[in-house]
Amino acid sequence: METCAIEAAMKPNNREKNRRATVRYDAIVIGSGISGGWAAKELTGKGLKTLVLERGRDVKHVTDYPTANLNPWEFEHRGQVPLAVRAQYGNIRSFMREETLHWTIKPDEQPFVEEQPFTWTRGYHVGGKSLLWARQTQRWSDFDFEGPARDGFAVDWPIRYADIAPWYSYVEKFAGISGNKDGLPHLPDGEFLPPIELNCVETHFQGIIAQKYNDRQLIQGRCAHITDPQPIHIEQGRAQCQHRNLCVRGCPFGGYFSSNSSTLPWAEKTGNMTLRPHSVVHSIIYDEKKGRASGVRVIDANTKEMLEFYANVIFVNGSALNSNQILLNSTSSRFPNGLGNDNGLLGKFVAWHNYRGKISAQFDGFLDKTTDGKNPSNGYIPRFRNLHKQETSGPASRFLRGYAVGVGGGRGMVQNREGMGLALKEQLLNPQLGPWNVSGWMMGETVPIERNHVRLDANLKDKYGIPQLVTSAVWTENDDKMVVDYMEQMTEMFAAAGFINIKALDSHSNPGSDIHEMGGVRMGKDPKTSLLNEWNQLHSVKNVFVTDGACMTSTGTQNPSLTYMALTARAADYAVKQLKKKTL
Ligand SMILES: Cc1cc2nc3c(=O)[nH]c(=O)nc-3n(C[C@H](O)[C@H](O)[C@H](O)COP(=O)(O)OP(=O)(O)OC[C@H]3O[C@@H](n4cnc5c(N)ncnc54)[C@H](O)[C@@H]3O)c2cc1C
Ligand code: SF4
Repeated sequence: METCAIEAAMKPNNREKNRRATVRYDAIVIGSGISGGWAAKELTGKGLKTLVLERGRDVKHVTDYPTANLNPWEFEHRGQVPLAVRAQYGNIRSFMREETLHWTIKPDEQPFVEEQPFTWTRGYHVGGKSLLWARQTQRWSDFDFEGPARDGFAVDWPIRYADIAPWYSYVEKFAGISGNKDGLPHLPDGEFLPPIELNCVETHFQGIIAQKYNDRQLIQGRCAHITDPQPIHIEQGRAQCQHRNLCVRGCPFGGYFSSNSSTLPWAEKTGNMTLRPHSVVHSIIYDEKKGRASGVRVIDANTKEMLEFYANVIFVNGSALNSNQILLNSTSSRFPNGLGNDNGLLGKFVAWHNYRGKISAQFDGFLDKTTDGKNPSNGYIPRFRNLHKQETSGPASRFLRGYAVGVGGGRGMVQNREGMGLALKEQLLNPQLGPWNVSGWMMGETVPIERNHVRLDANLKDKYGIPQLVTSAVWTENDDKMVVDYMEQMTEMFAAAGFINIKALDSHSNPGSDIHEMGGVRMGKDPKTSLLNEWNQLHSVKNVFVTDGACMTSTGTQNPSLTYMALTARAADYAVKQLKKKTL
């Protein structure tokens, strides 16, 4: 009986029918990182049979964190990556460490063309960059959503804070965000778990800023760490953060939010998710007759075979530049220049954050104090330049918008390497606590301009036959002036706090080094000047939703991922409601 059924299935006609039956889903999500994980959770939770396509390998929570519990001496090279190994990765990157080498991709995976120098950090495995991120999470406010309209750049956002606020609350409660309710209109409070405390030198700096400035504050960083597990976190199998600060290796406690510890297992539990690793999405299929997307083309990374999968609704969450690449590569008679690209703006107005400004110093007080445990977060100074209006005089009038600042302080162990013999050996074996070091890093808003764009190379392809992405992005005078202001203001604030050996610098890092690339498929009110509407739907292909950084009309100064999570949950809710009404 069974043999007959298999034979029947293998007959050419039935084989095709069966193949189609197993490749049809209610929804397809491209990418399993921060935003894709949320799309998967929401769509499966609302009953949609959902295929999640991930170009990289599978990474199972806990079991696939090979270095999570290793001691420093258990690494063959004490954490360093030998030059010969580095060479296999194409360049000598400062980020490369032995404990996280397994997250790094080799250059032949996805070569791209840097028309101008551009740093593109990617995480190609299940969970994407949710396993690499620094977990800082702040809400946007209307000071950000109204920025383009007020200051005359990009286009007006089609949404305001009130549209997204309930969705921030929704994702914060599930993800677990720690923070203090600071009551700042420009950095709205969220559904916070208790904050991670500042240390003594950070608290000292906080006091000085409060005393000397009425336009700025230093607050506890808001971050996706569970400081007081709630039933919803325990139900996810996650536990309280242990302050080990080894998050980049993957956290076996689920102490911080990642797709792997949180949204993907939740989606899995519904029984509605099919997760397919090693599936490189080539393009989205457009059905000319129906005037809608019908599915996606995938290259199986192992066999290099091209496969097709079909669904009623498609969420594009490959991370900002990949989502641009997928849409640009999705051509048809109706859309010869890329899916939804009626106005020719697809790939344009790409932006990022300006992390060029750095500052470091020392403090010679508090020598009787050190920290208990490690702080996986930091202090944070929300934006204070050009906040309520564009200044017309004074230093802030030199540039548009402004910057936030991350601040951290700590004491390291110092070895006295002078002398010789037994005394030297004793010194080396017994390092002493050094002075307090303090550092600050700039997080500036870049203003999206049409000139900064990505496009497909006309000739070069990668090993999957996908046209290579060309990145063409430069800093502007606005960015340069903002860095100068950062260095001046931070030097003044550090000096006021009594810090010594102050060193402020412009790192002149490449665009993209902040790892917050955004735009290219921006949201807007008008299909003539934007690609996506207020629900993250392509204006002209309504069953395609783009909810990762590609959708960002402007960049704000906040770390962006919390906003991607909220936009994704909001768009998924809308998509399912429209599917139920049969209007999608
Ligand atoms: C070191 C570091 C620190 C960071 N710190 C912060 C922070 O503190 N706060 C913050 O908000 N953000 C931070 N970020 C940025 C944050 O990680 C990203 O904003 C976030 O992960 C973006 O989510 P995403 O879903 O768009 O993309 P990702 O999380 O990158 O996921 C995209 C997924 O799509 C897959 N994919 C790509 N192309 C395809 C394709 N063609 N077919 C199939 N699958 C594909 C990828 O493999 C990946 O798994 C940091 C990033 C790094 C690397
Ligand atoms: S600091 Fe917290 S979240 Fe990070 S690895 Fe340790 S327990 Fe996990």
